This record gives sequence, C-alpha cells and structure tokens, in this order.
Amino acid sequence: MSEGGGQVVRGFPHLDTVRSAITALHRRLGPDGVRKYATSFVPADAAFADTEDLYPGAQRVAGALVEHLRLPKARVVVGFRRMEHAAAVELTAGPEYFVELNDRFRTHRRDIGAALAHEITHVLLHRLGLEFRGTRDNEVLTDTVTAYLGAGWLLLDAFRQDATSSQKLGYLTPDEFGYVLAKRALVFDEDPSVWFTSPQAYPAYTAGRAKALGDLRRPPLTGAGWAGRRRYARDRRRAVGSAGTGPGDGYAFEDGPGGLRVSFACPVCHQRVRVPVRGRVRARCGLCRTVLECDT
Ligand SMILES: [Zn+2]
Ligand SMILES: [Zn+2]
Repeated sequence: MSEGGGQVVRGFPHLDTVRSAITALHRRLGPDGVRKYATSFVPADAAFADTEDLYPGAQRVAGALVEHLRLPKARVVVGFRRMEHAAAVELTAGPEYFVELNDRFRTHRRDIGAALAHEITHVLLHRLGLEFRGTRDNEVLTDTVTAYLGAGWLLLDAFRQDATSSQKLGYLTPDEFGYVLAKRALVFDEDPSVWFTSPQAYPAYTAGRAKALGDLRRPPLTGAGWAGRRRYARDRRRAVGSAGTGPGDGYAFEDGPGGLRVSFACPVCHQRVRVPVRGRVRARCGLCRTVLECDT
C-alpha cells in the first residue's frame, strides 16, 4: 500500500478505473453478494488505544476486518518492520496471510485499521480471483472495493493535513474515496461522515458525494437537469438514420432495424444498460437490478 506525503493529488484522475472496479465487483459478487455488506465496519472495532498491547491489538483489528470482509477461512498475522511503503501483504494459498505494517504504525495506531483494511481486501480479491492488470489499476480496484464493502471510510479518515505536513493512505485521491463511499451510502442508505475524525475527510466526502449524485442526473435518467436534457434531445435528433453516435454525456445512440436505442451507464454499478427510444421507459439494470426511470 502506498503512502502519500507532500503534495496530495485531488479530484478524480482515476474515475474510469474506479467505475470499472464497481462494475467488476458487482459481476463477481452478484447483487445478493454485494448486499451482504450492507453494514459498514464499526468504528469501535478499529479503535486502538495506546494502553492496548501492540501485537494483540493489531491482531484484534485484523480479526474484525477478516470477519467484516467475510473471509472466515483466512487468518491474518500482523507484523511490523522498517519499510518504504505503508504496508504489504503476501498473497499465498492461505489460510494464513502475513501482513506487514510500516514500523511507524507502532506509534500511529489510529491508522492501523485503515492500513489493514486495504491489505485484507487484497486477500479478499485474491480469494475471489478478481484482479486488474497493472499495479496502478489493481491498487485502485483494491481501494474501491475496500470502500464499497464498508471498510474504506477508514482510509479517507486517515487523510490528514496541517500547515506543515500531510498524510494519505492508498491510491485513490481523497475525493475519489468520497465518491465510492457516497455510491455505497446511496445504495445502503447510510451516512459515513459521522465516523470521520479527520477534519479533511468531510470536505473530500462532500466533493465525492456531489460527483456520485451527478451520476443520477445524467440523461436519459429522469433525474437529468435541463441543460443535459437539451443536449440529449439534440444528440437524439442527429442519431436518427445515422450509424450511431459516439458517447455524448455517457450515453450513445444506435439506430437499427428495431428502431433507435440508447445505451448508458447504470448510475449504481456502471454496467451498460440499453433501452429503446420511446419516451418514458422503466428499465431494470441487468447486473445490480436497480430500476431506472428514463425519459428517452
Ligand atoms: Zn495495495
Ligand atoms: Zn446497475
């Protein structure tokens, strides 16, 4: 796991990969599998007092994460050593997995839960056989899944800045963590912001949440705003009789023997959904089963 010091990148540079990761997770677990993670990791389970013994304490937090991530047949052994990165895990056949944390966590215990959440999600993905090609994309997948399955608010909460220093864990930007947390919050009707202890976490969550709400307001969804609808109507006029159009604001038209159709990304799981163009249409996403009200 990487650790950002110095300049922290903001905004949404990994958004496409984050969305692909959400789709891949839904494909691998299915809608019922995702729903098993409806409850987020409890703050009390990540709490780590200075009076608690280091190794048993780290072991306790790891055990709680193994349980939260539904890895009953995995045992995680936590060690500390001098290292460049924040943390690392060796992915083996199991059932024992060794997670190494940077020595500095011996005295920065409040972020041990965040580091372990990311590393133990690596174990989950390894068990699921879910992997993206290349280190960068695979780490984005890991952070996204950690957040989507309810343990990633710890990673956003580990983002802290003051006048002289900054700390951030993971590959996603703080705003991207906020985005995934908000996508999850919209599905499971929760408010992760009440768990934040870092003053920088809340604004990042707000920025991510605005982006996530924007996904619900893109045409042809009925939640689209006036400007989006106008652009959509213009693109639709152009699409009639043509071979198809490039994706406009995330949607694309195809004109064929069956008439004009529009495809767009499901605002929940980002799988492509295709519906006929004929006014008001109610579609059900084939992957996450969300019912989508469209004005095509
Ligand atoms: Zn990692
Ligand atoms: Zn969907």
